[in-house]
Amino acid sequence: MLKNDQLEQWDRENFFHPSTHLAEFARGNLPHRVVTGGQGCHIEDRDGNRLLDAFAGLYCVNVGYGRQEIAEAIADQARELAYYHAYVGHGTEASITLAKMVLDRAPDHMSKVYFGLSGSDANETNVKLIWYYNNILGRPEKKKIISRWRGYHGSGLMTGSLTGLELFHKKFDLPLAQVVHTEAPYYFRRADTDQTEAQFVAHCVAELEALIEREGADTIAAFIGEPVLGTGGIVPPPAGYWPAIQAVLDKHDILLVADEVVTGFGRLGTMFGSDHYGMKPDLITIAKGLTSAYAPLSGSIVGDKMWKVLEQGTDENGPIGHGWTYSAHPIGAAAGVANLKLIDALNLVQNAGETGAYLNKVMAEAVGHHANVGEVRGEGMLCAVEFVQDRGSRTFFDASEKVGYRIAAALLEQGVIGRAMPQGDILGFAPPFCLTTSEAEEIADKTARAVASVLG
Ligand code: PMP
Repeated sequence: MLKNDQLEQWDRENFFHPSTHLAEFARGNLPHRVVTGGQGCHIEDRDGNRLLDAFAGLYCVNVGYGRQEIAEAIADQARELAYYHAYVGHGTEASITLAKMVLDRAPDHMSKVYFGLSGSDANETNVKLIWYYNNILGRPEKKKIISRWRGYHGSGLMTGSLTGLELFHKKFDLPLAQVVHTEAPYYFRRADTDQTEAQFVAHCVAELEALIEREGADTIAAFIGEPVLGTGGIVPPPAGYWPAIQAVLDKHDILLVADEVVTGFGRLGTMFGSDHYGMKPDLITIAKGLTSAYAPLSGSIVGDKMWKVLEQGTDENGPIGHGWTYSAHPIGAAAGVANLKLIDALNLVQNAGETGAYLNKVMAEAVGHHANVGEVRGEGMLCAVEFVQDRGSRTFFDASEKVGYRIAAALLEQGVIGRAMPQGDILGFAPPFCLTTSEAEEIADKTARAVASVLG
């Protein structure tokens, strides 16, 4: 085995890490960690640390680490047939079975699933399918996609444009022209202090209507949104938001893409967030929870309305010109089948709902009273604590103080991984669904200690 210092040198010299301050990492000012193992909600590293991963990797290891059932399914598939493509009608037992399992779990009006590799490429697929759809319908002008500020939909060219976070645009010449952004349903930050939730929903609707009016409904193809804003701050929408948005979209013949990369397969305590909020999407993006990240696999679930037009398109134009070498990769598909079976067998969707609610409760009890905690919020197995300089006037800390990052670092020192969300002082939690109540208590207690150590 390589010595740790040798690995660290190689790491700093050779490895281009995603979403990392490159210069600080090269200078050695950012930690490097070699993760070696995981079991349940914990990971281990080469320095012998055992950490409670209250973010499930990147909210993706939903069934927890070390699941032998999934590892065996992957190994069996690799031994039997590691790869064959899915073009022109080819498949494997795993990919066909997984498609059936996904559709069995998806809302009733969904029709087919296209498999990709990552959440980003699935959203890229969605945009292409939307454009194809409107071209087939003879509406070549109806192409723009509306996304929300603070939405996260990936970091490709189109998907990075859909993402409504400045960091993902800056110096990349994004967003692309076909993307327009609208208000985030972020009551705590965006509403006026005297606005009720219902008034704020009406404001979000008015902003959307105004945008559609400005751009022209005949230029707008689709609206994309996560049922609960994830990377943008873990923000459940105010009551009534989705039905109100859905009504506007229906009125203007605008498709809805529910980006369920985080919420799909149980994180909110329901199989899909669309079920949870009564959304009627035309496309659903899935990734992380599809395999619990045991292998890379994503999907675009296509609704009946679009599917009919896609079929018509191929009658008129020949095969659809969209495919990845690794679409429906057998190893990812085998991981997906084993993962979904495990979620059912262990009742993990229910546990995500129940233990998630418990985590939110104990977190609110542990830190909710602190003068610098503006809000503790969450839904299902998602929880966030937002810090403010002053609660009464809702003033925020200056970004340069890095309050959120410092609290996340203080929490890590106690052996718990939370995530400082990228825009604002927000500490996010999205543990595996197998979290126990005592682990939830540990997360809440240690968060309280971390907050006290940074903010007094
Ligand atoms: N959509 C959402 C809602 C996500 O949270 C993410 C990833 N965090 C993506 C898309 C992109 O997925 P990936 O990183 O697998 O490309």
